[in-house]
Amino acid sequence: MKNQLTSHRKTVFEVVKESMDHPTARQVFDRAVQKSPRLSFATVYNSLKYLSESGLIKQVSFGEEAIRYDARLSRHDHLFCRVCHKVLDLMDIAIPTTNNFSLPKGFKVEEISLKISGLCESCQEVNN
Ligand SMILES: [Zn+2]
Ligand SMILES: [Zn+2]
Repeated sequence: MKNQLTSHRKTVFEVVKESMDHPTARQVFDRAVQKSPRLSFATVYNSLKYLSESGLIKQVSFGEEAIRYDARLSRHDHLFCRVCHKVLDLMDIAIPTTNNFSLPKGFKVEEISLKISGLCESCQEVNN
């Protein structure tokens, strides 16, 4: 078992942990090079892939092109602003269970997530 993270992976992991805004790979890269200027985008991208596969961070997708990364592993859902693409955590929503649906026979549910889109406070001000 290799439990030790390489220093590049550790840097990338730290950046995601410090970022509560669900950054894209590009944003993680921009922040990681501040700490470790020799990092390449490919290294950051591969580290994010490794960290996601190891369960140390989560991938979140909002129907945009770019996947976002989330270091908050406890169960939570997301609010997505469709104008500025800000992502907010929603912690205390009642968790739907499979009892709430009539599932096709034989389907095994692995994950239930909820995405709520709308306008954040500052985007509403702009549009009013
Ligand atoms: Zn917004
Ligand atoms: Zn989140």
